[in-house]
Amino acid sequence: MTSTVYWGSPRQAQLDASETLPAKLDLILDKLDIRQRVKDQRVAIKLHLGGNVGYSTVHPVFIRKVVQAVLEGGGKPFVTDLPHAVESAHKRGYTAETLGCPLYATTGIDGKWVTAHPYDYCQMTEFYMGGAIEEASFLIDLAHVKGHPVTGWGAALKNIALGCMDGRTRSAMHDVSHYEPYFFKEKCPDEATRVAIRESCPYGAIVDDQEDPGGLHLHHFKCNQCMRCQAVANGAFEIQRGAFMAFLEVCNISAKLVLDTFEPGNTTFINLATQLTPVCDCFGFTGMPVLPDVGVFGSDDLVALEQATLDMLADKPIIEENLPGMMEIVSRDGHPWQWIHGPYKDPNEQLVMAEQIGLGSREYTLVDVLPVQEPDFKAVQYIPAGP
Ligand code: SF4
Repeated sequence: MTSTVYWGSPRQAQLDASETLPAKLDLILDKLDIRQRVKDQRVAIKLHLGGNVGYSTVHPVFIRKVVQAVLEGGGKPFVTDLPHAVESAHKRGYTAETLGCPLYATTGIDGKWVTAHPYDYCQMTEFYMGGAIEEASFLIDLAHVKGHPVTGWGAALKNIALGCMDGRTRSAMHDVSHYEPYFFKEKCPDEATRVAIRESCPYGAIVDDQEDPGGLHLHHFKCNQCMRCQAVANGAFEIQRGAFMAFLEVCNISAKLVLDTFEPGNTTFINLATQLTPVCDCFGFTGMPVLPDVGVFGSDDLVALEQATLDMLADKPIIEENLPGMMEIVSRDGHPWQWIHGPYKDPNEQLVMAEQIGLGSREYTLVDVLPVQEPDFKAVQYIPAGP
């Protein structure tokens, strides 16, 4: 199946508001027939509202466009995110007044407004989904595209996979990377070798295991698979692709559980790819962009939307002068996000798995909602200015 992805380029020909990204988001909302679909629906607009001094999350101007379209269509919108993000949202400019609708925490004030969804994966048996998501009848997943230290990148899929679940579920989801053993005491000859493995990581990704004295614990989010540790590990400590893939897969499962709570046709997805920082908005600050802006995307197909966004970035080089000093390019193979987060954090592979569990199609047609009409300066004679 080929899905349609609507795209608004960040490029302008004219210095005019009609060619800006908010205007192109309006055109995408028209193409998605938002107004015609939301009458009397309780519409959850799922955002990542960030934290602390982050300022690269989706700007209120864009959110207001979505809210306005829902209101004009007779829907009842609310913006939603995790409790701590909603509680501090006003500090970053997100209020009912600026957005045009109320903000509710996905899982309630204390994170306890949840429903259990049984699903067996690694050590997990249940996913606890936010009540605000369950009570909504229509979902608009409005995401900011950026890098992410565990998934490689974060956009619409991650926005709902992690952002609609409670704290214990998010924690358990991160722990699936530890399901298969990666430190093998029987192969570690002595304490000096164990310490050498730990100290070999320049990123501090390997630490003492607090729950298993004499063991080692890997912080997968810090590991870019540079493999320096493998030179001293002699098989006692393994960097395993499957551990990284497990987190990508559990995110797909979680997203599927979320989308299955909505009637077919009552979900839509938007990616805003501006200010592409190297790590997630949950870090609570905004770093320099490491990839160029590539615009705004919208689709009813989550996988198609994510694939189109990834593809648009695929041939863009990392802006190396903007990389934080503690990050490096470990490889120039694969997607640019893999250059800095490592080959095992493979966003394309996540979409292959997402397609397999029925989250959508990687086949898409990209429709530019306002193709740039470049002015033809050559058609007019150039007359140099005089002295
Ligand atoms: S692969 Fe590199 S980043 Fe990962 S734990 Fe080993 S040394 Fe650290």
